[in-house]
Amino acid sequence: MSNPSLLILPGDGIGPEVMAEVRKVIDWFGAKRDMAFDVSEDLVGGCAYDAHGTPLTDETMAKAQEVDAVLLGAVGGPKYDTLDFSVKPERGLLRLRKEMDLYANLRPAQCFDALADFSSLKKDVVAGLDIMIIRELTSGVYFGEPRGVFKEGNERVGINTQRYTESEIARVARSAFELARKRGNKVCSMEKANVMESGVLWRDVVQEIHDAEYPDVELSHMYADAGAMQLTRWPKQFDVIVTDNLFGDLLSDLAAMLTGSLGMLPSASLGAPMANGRPKALYEPVHGSAPDIAGTGKANPIACILSFAMALRYSFDKGDEATRLEEAVNAVLADGLRTADLLGEDGVQPVSTAEMGDAIVAKLDASL
Ligand code: NAD
Repeated sequence: MSNPSLLILPGDGIGPEVMAEVRKVIDWFGAKRDMAFDVSEDLVGGCAYDAHGTPLTDETMAKAQEVDAVLLGAVGGPKYDTLDFSVKPERGLLRLRKEMDLYANLRPAQCFDALADFSSLKKDVVAGLDIMIIRELTSGVYFGEPRGVFKEGNERVGINTQRYTESEIARVARSAFELARKRGNKVCSMEKANVMESGVLWRDVVQEIHDAEYPDVELSHMYADAGAMQLTRWPKQFDVIVTDNLFGDLLSDLAAMLTGSLGMLPSASLGAPMANGRPKALYEPVHGSAPDIAGTGKANPIACILSFAMALRYSFDKGDEATRLEEAVNAVLADGLRTADLLGEDGVQPVSTAEMGDAIVAKLDASL
């Protein structure tokens, strides 16, 4: 049987720096766990524009459609700010998400013990936190028609349309229930059914899918505004939260920051299953290309390394190995190693991007 395939798109700014550390981890799994991947690497974002005049070539897009998973660093930077909208680096990423039809965006909010003090909330509220927000990514108010700014009499009117079909809601609901079965078996669905018809449909469809296909999973519904309050009051009440594109955009950022730095946050975007049963998948850190620290060795590679852990779990059915990698990260943090973004006031000297990557690989070695 051939090895699973992985397309790596480091992108711009700190993207290539953090991805170099992920490569060490991938090589480790190949050498020490007999898990070789067929890895190819290509350009996306500003670097692709520099080389080809487009942020994503058709050839790279075709490769992304063929592989088992795509791992992306970050795109963008001030150099590209004045480019036409159609060739901006972010368009490369948007094209990947759209053409791969990645409708379920998974954003974990997990608190590593050693960083519990780093949260803006009290330690006992976040210590041990492990929740997953699933945001619908390809429909809703960011895509619905009509949209635009129109003239109405003597003034302008701005219009966006929240639109969801039954099948769009059903497929992301299934993603949430499937995931919950592998975790704490609990889903909370969030919408505003009290004031939005699309929310009424959302609630009905999630309930129907639950009753017909996942009666074993505990399901609750919550208005999204109340959900935001509950997330900051007592986030540990949740396991999996599923919500639409707009509310998910806000709630996933809120939940993620409960746990500390942008440099720690991974994500996955999943689509429909391919012929081999694996979902189409793009894994990437939540952070951007951080041009302010690019080239200084200050970038935290953990978000990108944890994105690879998500790939192990969700694309390659290697949940145990994903846990091994997450525990290696936890162990490094417990030893007190910190990149500059994780420093408090206690005078700890930061480690570099490469030192953090090496320390995680050393902990992987120690786990054998
Ligand atoms: P950013 O996430 O790049 O940076 C925000 C702040 O967090 C900066 O101070 C940065 O130094 C810090 N930071 C981010 N990642 C870090 C890491 N791994 N380690 C240590 N510190 C880290 O967001 P921004 O400054 O708003 O955007 C910069 C560029 O990135 C822009 O061109 C933007 O369009 C792009 N961007 C890309 C993505 C993506 O590729 N998915 C996401 C967001 C922003």
